[in-house]
Amino acid sequence: MNDAVANPLLDFSGMPRFADIKPAHVEPAIRGLIDENRALIERLTADPATPTWDGFVSPMDEAGERLGRAWGVVGHLHSVFDVPEWREAYNAMLPEISRFYAEVGQNLALFQKYKALHDSSEFATLSPVRQRILEHALRDFRLSGAELPDDQKPRFQEIQEEQSQLAAKFSENLLDATNAHAEWITDEAGLAGIPDDARQAARAAAEAEGKEGWKFTLQMPSYLPVLQYADDRELRARMYRAYATRASELGNPELDNGPLIGRILALRDEEARMLGYRNFAEVSLVPKMADTPEQVLGFLHDLAAKAKPFAEKDLEELKAFARAELGLDTLEPWDVAYASEKLRQARYAYSDQEVKQYFPEPKVLDGLFGVIRALYRVDILPDEAPTWDPDVRFFRIEKEGELVGHFYLDLHARSTKRGGAWMDSARSRHRNTWGSDTPVAYLVCNFPGPVGGKPATFTHDDVLTLFHECGHGLHHLLTQVDELAVSGIHGVEWDAVELPSQFMENFCWEWDVLQGMTAHIDTGEPLPRALYDKMIAAKNFQSGMQTVRQLEFSMFDLRLHSELDASAGPVPIERVMALLDEVRREVAVMIPPAWHRFPHSFSHIFAGGYAAGYYSYKWAEVLSADAFEAFEEAGAGRGSLLDPETGERFWREILAVGGSRPALDSFKAFRGREPRVDALLRHSGMVAQA
Ligand SMILES: [Zn+2]
Repeated sequence: MNDAVANPLLDFSGMPRFADIKPAHVEPAIRGLIDENRALIERLTADPATPTWDGFVSPMDEAGERLGRAWGVVGHLHSVFDVPEWREAYNAMLPEISRFYAEVGQNLALFQKYKALHDSSEFATLSPVRQRILEHALRDFRLSGAELPDDQKPRFQEIQEEQSQLAAKFSENLLDATNAHAEWITDEAGLAGIPDDARQAARAAAEAEGKEGWKFTLQMPSYLPVLQYADDRELRARMYRAYATRASELGNPELDNGPLIGRILALRDEEARMLGYRNFAEVSLVPKMADTPEQVLGFLHDLAAKAKPFAEKDLEELKAFARAELGLDTLEPWDVAYASEKLRQARYAYSDQEVKQYFPEPKVLDGLFGVIRALYRVDILPDEAPTWDPDVRFFRIEKEGELVGHFYLDLHARSTKRGGAWMDSARSRHRNTWGSDTPVAYLVCNFPGPVGGKPATFTHDDVLTLFHECGHGLHHLLTQVDELAVSGIHGVEWDAVELPSQFMENFCWEWDVLQGMTAHIDTGEPLPRALYDKMIAAKNFQSGMQTVRQLEFSMFDLRLHSELDASAGPVPIERVMALLDEVRREVAVMIPPAWHRFPHSFSHIFAGGYAAGYYSYKWAEVLSADAFEAFEEAGAGRGSLLDPETGERFWREILAVGGSRPALDSFKAFRGREPRVDALLRHSGMVAQA
């Protein structure tokens, strides 16, 4: 089309034309696409005829995909090429695009059309995948209150708005309370044990206020080094108490999150009942892989029972070390991080710098591609396409000569790139009446680049990150689903979406795999066994204690949203604390002091999206470890865990199907049974010694 020639953002015929796309193209392209979508929605919802898949869903998908792809390119450039002109172009359109998506989500006429198609005679003739897509669309409308009687809608809306306000207030209180406390040190002797960089930061903080000495705050980069390293036990105790009582009635009453917690719980309970559920945990689980609160609690109890003996052992070991080596006869909560760090250094320390010498970038990429080739019998070949930076590489994946998908690899940090690492979709696989496309992914990391004519070298953490993002990438690229809404990572339950990514990380801990992907930058020698053993020991250091801590948070979160009756209005904070005590008595090995106010700073569930969902972290870890165990079992009989038959099955049952069927069905189809926690325990070193 001529349009596309004039505006390269509107050219959907191939890869994004990064060389031609300019900030000035954004506004006309995005505005045009939003108008196109609005006009289409208006036309389709005004049509009195019963909607059909081809006449309604298909054009909606097509128009939505065009906007999604064009805006995806803009968002991507904003992340990886954040120069002022691009930032401006992105921010100029952001409010408009957000408004458009919010409007679609609340469009009742649209909801009626989806419902009419769902209730029509055509529904029975649709493929199970298409039926699932329609059911999910209706579910999402329903959870936003679309099906409520008209006289209840205003109250539902009020509840949503008050919840957002309370969540924002919760975060603000926590931030203000965090900033309200400082420890001033004027005598340098008081800094004993604290590392230089933390001291320098504390000195700079004091200087910024024109004061002498050192200022330590409750912000993590300042707080953590004090708790881990400060020899002054009193200083640690004061900081610990200040941190543990943030945003509670023990501090400034204006910043107390206690009443907010009670109010948030009551509103969530009311919302759940309006939608026809018994409690908020049930609402939270509707779009997730887990079915019921009881099922999640069963999972958490099971894992807790198995992990607790190891946590007790970790704690005993720590107490014995603290007594013998540090002269701490009773281990107080403010000693735990300090003693742990000393113990870790004494037993398991190795230098990241030393390990790094064994991971030059070309060898790591060879190793990664080698794992993928061996598992899925695909070829990964260098390819050509316009990119946003000369450092970016582009590859194609082929299976027996046939194109599967493409990906961009942007590994090195740049001043114009957002921090962190991520995988994003540039194009999703689809095949339908209006055309077909293979998937394209962006893999973006922030690793150091090459220096002094030598290849870049990666820390082991970098390598884990690369494998993790590549796992998300393969989920997106190896999909065999033809429907946009559920191809690749689309429509996958959020407590299952980390399965393929965490799964890939496991390979970075395998001796055989590491032998093939390490070569010392100077000598070319692979990773030595002694260093490998230390890495494994350090990985599993205190895994029992860490596991029960995560389980304590998960159980508290779930029981808070399923057991605590909030139907009579705001929940008194005493009841919240009592529930937490009960959970701790079951799972914790280190019981904090009675004045500890953990809930008041639990932002994940009171100000983030994790309410009745904190368990997802462990849940996905269990799934990925258990899936990986299938490769270990296959490897035991063949000498290598890179088993292509198991790989083919993992591709077919998990990666290929994406969101087209429930994640639990996919898992069971791959593993031949329900998930079990045993593999995760074993991978974390929590196995009973014979
Ligand atoms: Zn991830």
